Amino acid sequence: MITAKGIFRQTPLWQRALASAIRDPAELLRELSLDPALLTAAQAAATLFPLRVPRSFVARMRPGDPDDPLLRQVLPLAAELESAPGFTADPLDEQATQAAPGVLHKYSGRALLIVTGACAVHCRYCFRREFPYAENQAHFNAGQSTLTYLAGDASLREVILSGGDPLALSDRRLGELLTALDHIPHLERVRIHSRLPIALPERVDDGLLATLARTRLRLVVVSHANHPHEIDETVVTALARLASIGATLLNQTVLLHGVNDAPETLAALSERLFTARVLPYYLHLLDPVRGAAHFAVKESAALAIMDRLRQRLPGYLVPRLVREQPGQLAKTPVESI
Ligand code: SF4
Repeated sequence: MITAKGIFRQTPLWQRALASAIRDPAELLRELSLDPALLTAAQAAATLFPLRVPRSFVARMRPGDPDDPLLRQVLPLAAELESAPGFTADPLDEQATQAAPGVLHKYSGRALLIVTGACAVHCRYCFRREFPYAENQAHFNAGQSTLTYLAGDASLREVILSGGDPLALSDRRLGELLTALDHIPHLERVRIHSRLPIALPERVDDGLLATLARTRLRLVVVSHANHPHEIDETVVTALARLASIGATLLNQTVLLHGVNDAPETLAALSERLFTARVLPYYLHLLDPVRGAAHFAVKESAALAIMDRLRQRLPGYLVPRLVREQPGQLAKTPVESI
C-alpha cells in the first residue's frame, strides 16, 4: 500500500518546493520581519494578481528591508491599484497574434507556444499578469490544431516555449511536448523561456536534464534574472548543469525602477551571469501592463545606463536594450541617435 507519505516522497523535490511557495502576504512579511502595516495594501493588490514566491527565492532577500530588490519584484503594493495612462491589460496586443490555440506567431521563422499558465514566481511587472491562459493554451495531443499549425508552416525553424513558465510542466508533459516537436521535420531549434532556473533552481534536476537531452532539436534556454542577488550558488549550479547537456544559455532582464536601474547593478548582473555560463541577451524596457507603472524607467535614463554599461563591460556582456511594440516584426532596438 502506498501511503500519503510515500506519494509525497515520490514527488520530485522541485514540485514539493513549488507547492510550498509563499502565497500569503502576511507570511511573507513575517518571514522577512517587515512592518505589518504593509499588509493591507499587499492583500488588496494580491486580489488582482496573487502573490507567489518560492522559499528559496525569499532566502536570497535581506530581512527587514522593504526596498530589497528581490522583494520589490514580488511584493504586491498599493501602487498596483492606481491606473496610469497607456498601461493596459494586454500591452503587446498578443490576442491579435494568435494563429492557433496557444500559438502566437509574430516573427518570421519562429512561433511562440503558451504551454502553461503556471509560474514558480509571480513577478509584479509581468506583461502577462492578466493573460487569459484558460482560453489560450497549446494542445499537444495528436491531430490537435497546435501541432497541425506547426507542421503546416514549413517556414518555421524554431519553436519558443513560453507561458507562464514551460519548466513548470512535469518532466512527462515536457517530454511529450518535445517528442511531438521532434516529429516535425522542418523544426531545428527549441527555445525555452524560463524563470525557474533562477527562481526555483531545484527544478534543474536529473529528470529534467534527461528529458531535455532526448530531443533532437538544438536547445536554447533563455533565463530571466533581473538582479545579481538572484544568482546564488544553487542557481550557478543549475545553469551549469543546463550548459553541460549542450544548451545555449542566454538571459533576459527587465529594466525596473528600484530594482536594477543602476549601471553598477546591471554590470554585476552580467558578470554573475557569465560566471554561470550565461550571456546577457536583452534588457527590456518595461511593457506597459496595467498595475506596473511604478516600475517604469524613462527611455533617456535607460540610454544613460547603457552608455555607462558599455564603458564598464566587454561587448559580449552588454545586453541589447529593446522594447517590444505591437505589430512590429522584431523587437525594436533602443539606441541613442
Ligand atoms: S515567471 Fe515570467 S511569465 Fe511568470 S510571472 Fe514572472 S515574468 Fe510573468
